[in-house]
Amino acid sequence: MEAVIKNREKSAQLFAEAKEYFPGGVNSPVRAFKSVSGPPLFIKEADGCRITDEDDNTYLDFCCSWGPLILGHNNAKIREDVIATISKGTSFGTPTKLGNELGKLIIENNKYIDKVRFVSSGTEAVMSAIRLARGVTGRDKIIKFEGCYHGHVDSLLVKAGSGLATFGESTSAGIPEAFAKETLVLPLGDSQALHELMMKMGDEIACIIIEPIPANNGLLLQDKAFLECLRKKCYKHGALLIFDEVISGLRVGFEGAAHHYGIQPDILTYGKIIGGGLPVGAYAASHEIMDHVAPVGPVYQAGTLSANPVAMSAGYAALKQLLAPGFYEEMERKTKNFVADILAFTEAEGMEVSIPTIGSIFWIAFTKERIISADQIDPASMEKFKVLHHELLQRGVYLGPSGYEVGFISAAHTEADLKIAAEKMKECLKIVFKA
Ligand SMILES: *Cc1c(COP(=O)(O)O)cnc(C)c1O
Repeated sequence: MEAVIKNREKSAQLFAEAKEYFPGGVNSPVRAFKSVSGPPLFIKEADGCRITDEDDNTYLDFCCSWGPLILGHNNAKIREDVIATISKGTSFGTPTKLGNELGKLIIENNKYIDKVRFVSSGTEAVMSAIRLARGVTGRDKIIKFEGCYHGHVDSLLVKAGSGLATFGESTSAGIPEAFAKETLVLPLGDSQALHELMMKMGDEIACIIIEPIPANNGLLLQDKAFLECLRKKCYKHGALLIFDEVISGLRVGFEGAAHHYGIQPDILTYGKIIGGGLPVGAYAASHEIMDHVAPVGPVYQAGTLSANPVAMSAGYAALKQLLAPGFYEEMERKTKNFVADILAFTEAEGMEVSIPTIGSIFWIAFTKERIISADQIDPASMEKFKVLHHELLQRGVYLGPSGYEVGFISAAHTEADLKIAAEKMKECLKIVFKA
């Protein structure tokens, strides 16, 4: 059993210092631990499924850098290849053989795409995919769903406006109202609302974008029928369907959610896992659609560090390992067992808990109701998560610091590690429900 955490002094000191340099002390907001207690952990190193903070506490990690590390931390093959590549230079601003190799590997093993463009983040991939959809269709309006996150793209930091209108309202300062108005927002899982909107405005819609496995606001698993409905409506009205697979792509299988549900989207976006822990994003589609992108077509998109050779070698080393026979089956089996172990306990104790899961993703919900849309999540349940997060941290288990975040299991989590984590989880849930 891992030690009880007593001291996070150095993390606290470093966080105080970081606040002088960075807004809120961080370079990405949720890292600040605002919705849980204590200072964020300052991690100095990690290996396998364990991370170590500056105070030398070690934690079993279920955040895995927010998803990219499906092979766990410090994967030997990725490390060796990155070191070999970096020893020959870090960036050339030219095409490289490494870029070809990763492109080929992805395309040859994903029947939903013919061509890909590498970028440097998920946000950039989505932003470019939206521009491409607009460029291809010659239309401006887009549809997104409440509860789906697509990075910090202007036109997607938008929620449903008040009243009857589905026209979006921005969720961030600094986004012109005129941009937000081009985005229409619908609830997840509501085919009727989609039908009505498409009847009214279908011929103005450039694209519908969805996380086919929404995993940024809880895990809001959709019915296949709903995703099929999106597909049909897009065909009918000449709009493009974008699957934002920045989390789900390469996570629920090499071909992601498209294959899981057997649905062919028009454009797909990737990120996180695709770079093996380095900054890579990608958007991909058929030849016809991708040939609208510059320098072949009129849709402009570029990047100084796009397809950076070091990142390409990390991505290649990672993705090669994901193609090993049985890789995804094993990940899913481990995750299912882990979840079932905890659920057997919460059921026996009569606790209001459910743990939706798919592939190696899981989410702890403080309800037994099946949750498919954002508005079903009770904000009050986040108080329970806060207690759970704190108690787990004290016992050396690290979950992402928000109850809206999902947990990730990596190939480096062994059965024994998961057993330890499940026992700690039970211990902590007892405290949560006593409080
Ligand atoms: C993480 C994420 C993004 C944004 O990717 P970044 O690399 O953080 O810019 C976009 N879409 C989805 C579905 C994501 O999970």
